[in-house]
Amino acid sequence: MRLFDTHAHLDFPQFDPDRDRLIEELVRQGVHVVNVGVDLETSRASLELARAHPHIHAACGVHPHDARDFTDMTLKELAALLARGAVAVGECGLDYYRDLSPREDQRRAFRAQLELARERGIPVIVHLRGGARDELLETLREVNPGRGVIHAFSPAHGSPRDFLDLGFHIGIGGPVTYRKNAALRALLREIPLERLLVETDSPYLPPEPHRGKRNDPAKVRLVVERIAEVLRLPPRDIAELTFRNARALFRIDA
Ligand SMILES: [Zn+2]
Repeated sequence: MRLFDTHAHLDFPQFDPDRDRLIEELVRQGVHVVNVGVDLETSRASLELARAHPHIHAACGVHPHDARDFTDMTLKELAALLARGAVAVGECGLDYYRDLSPREDQRRAFRAQLELARERGIPVIVHLRGGARDELLETLREVNPGRGVIHAFSPAHGSPRDFLDLGFHIGIGGPVTYRKNAALRALLREIPLERLLVETDSPYLPPEPHRGKRNDPAKVRLVVERIAEVLRLPPRDIAELTFRNARALFRIDA
């Protein structure tokens, strides 16, 4: 069974003690990964991981938390990094929950990155949190790269319909396994199977029964199994269709 974790941060320090061993294990288990940058440094690290490991693919972008430092120079450097083989721009978006950067900076950085994705003809990996839904949708309608994923989708995002209408995929992660998250499981039926992606957000958001521990991309299997249970389909089918969806969205030969 091959699996595709569309959102992980394997370059983060949590993986320093055993990164190589873990990646070997991912290869052995047939797990592909999009490693996602959150600033220029982690975007560079994502590209390096992708260059060293054929099962890892890089996304380069600046997270809304870091949007306050997004200058014209950042934009130039990001464009140069993307040209080195990134499969997506991201993660980028709006976070009005933690508000770690001023909203004006978040809007500016997000819009600039959407334009980069549109110019390069690659998808965008979108982070959305807090009361930013309507504004984010409005921005996507104005500057839509045409393809992308709303990552870590949750009931707080409302109905997936508006995002689907704009051509986006929906990323489902560990929270779908949480006992109290029946609302997220109920949303699964609103997502056409050809728009469904699975992810871990490693090292964060570990699925049951690993809550409180470090997450890793092999655990995407537990996300697949829970989705399969809800949709009453064989886990193998969910694994395969989400693998193919990811391969098509990110235009990866795998
Ligand atoms: Zn992330």
